Amino acid sequence: MREILWFRRDLRLEDCAILAHASNDVLPIFIFDTNILKKLPKEDKRVTFIYHSVLNLKQQLKTIGLDLAIFCGDPKTIFQQLLPLGFSKVLCSVDFDAYAIERDKTIESLLCMERYIDAFLLDPKEHLKKDGTPYKVFTPFYKSLEPLWSSSYIEEYQRNKALQKIEFDYDKVPTLQELGFEEQTLPNFLYQTPFELLEIFKTKVNQYEEQRDYFYCDGTSNLSVHLRFGLISPKQLFNAIRTLPSTSGVECFIKELFWREFYNAILFHFPKSEVENFNGANLIWEEDEWVYEKWINAQTGVPLIDAAMKYLNQTGLMHNRLRMIVASFASKNLLLPWKKCEEYFALKLLDYETSSNVGSWQWAASTGADSVPYFRLFNPYVQSKKFDKEAVFIKRVLPELNPVDAKVLHQENGLGNTLFISYPKPIVSIEFSRQRAIAFYKNVANL
Ligand SMILES: Cc1cc2nc3c(=O)[nH]c(=O)nc-3n(C[C@H](O)[C@H](O)[C@H](O)COP(=O)(O)OP(=O)(O)OC[C@H]3O[C@@H](n4cnc5c(N)ncnc54)[C@H](O)[C@@H]3O)c2cc1C
Repeated sequence: MREILWFRRDLRLEDCAILAHASNDVLPIFIFDTNILKKLPKEDKRVTFIYHSVLNLKQQLKTIGLDLAIFCGDPKTIFQQLLPLGFSKVLCSVDFDAYAIERDKTIESLLCMERYIDAFLLDPKEHLKKDGTPYKVFTPFYKSLEPLWSSSYIEEYQRNKALQKIEFDYDKVPTLQELGFEEQTLPNFLYQTPFELLEIFKTKVNQYEEQRDYFYCDGTSNLSVHLRFGLISPKQLFNAIRTLPSTSGVECFIKELFWREFYNAILFHFPKSEVENFNGANLIWEEDEWVYEKWINAQTGVPLIDAAMKYLNQTGLMHNRLRMIVASFASKNLLLPWKKCEEYFALKLLDYETSSNVGSWQWAASTGADSVPYFRLFNPYVQSKKFDKEAVFIKRVLPELNPVDAKVLHQENGLGNTLFISYPKPIVSIEFSRQRAIAFYKNVANL
């Protein structure tokens, strides 16, 4: 019987579950899902990245005698059109966010679906505490996985080389414009393959633990976007780093990969946490639209926050430490509801992953699993002094601040004394807003 291979977030040939488990004549497909696309602006950078990645996958599939049929539309309608061609099942990878779960239920009602854990290392169903309940704290979760993260190699899927493509019109490929999007310029590293990035990172991994927080320099792998869309699998990444001599940098990096697993497990076991406070804290935020607009438009008057937000708006990127500082500032100093801020990141981040983004925002807002205590806030001035002493990142993104001494940028209201620099005044005082946040959280249950 024939099988549909539905590529979704596994845009690769190697360590690809569906290419390993398929056993028959196949129709490999990719669907540009209009239910998702219609919500995105035509300048969305991710669509440019995915579009080229899909075309590249098509070329790669051709080299092994297969091909890729590319559709644009509602998955249900497309499957209804394909069914008369006689398929026994559809093979795909698992996605855990709310929309994907609903979409898959619909498709499953039309055709038998075989889904594989391919975008993550773990099946969250299989990793529970001894009492059968899910982990809610990272450290015991991580410790329980010691046999896995200390292993030298995780078995990868081997492609079934006997697969054959069915007769189909594979030549119809919609243009990006036909999908309703404009070609965007992407950050340079996204024009490199994940394996090229991996080779570069291997030369830096031993310094990863010390360098990963210095957001003005390039001390991390830059692989989150490729991981998100499955141009490299988490197993491939794990195996490539694990086979290097063990150093604190290697161990630290492996641990970060398991934060990704942790947040995925949290979303799987607690799907409501996508929209509700994970810890059930009854916090009622007042939505201040003026403050929100200042925040998203990089106009808070706090140089580090504005530089991070401007950079996000321009590139779709934000360094992990900056994400932590910005999320603490937005949810606590500005008292913006984390969900609204999370949605803004979801719109902009090139590596947007529901589980990591929701988990991390809830972490910063002290409402999530294993969150930062509610009384702990990052001071953006202290952070910029510590991790960007010469204000390299701030000045790169906000060139109007180039003439200013770095020390001034690490002082609250430092710019207030600087003549000739036109820069917004801070919209909040750090100490006042810290006390206000602590008071806001203090009397709430579950914190
Ligand atoms: C508020 C906030 C929102 C975030 N949103 C996302 C998101 O939408 N998508 C996303 O992939 N990551 C998210 N992260 C985690 C982290 O910031 C990014 O994974 C990292 O910056 C990507 O850069 P890199 O690939 O160079 O990371 P590296 O430091 O090289 O790490 C390697 C990989 O490990 C994983 N990883 C690293 N740190 C974390 C972490 N703290 N939590 C989960 N996984 C991690 C990522 O897959 C990353 O690609 C968020 C963090 C915060 C604080």
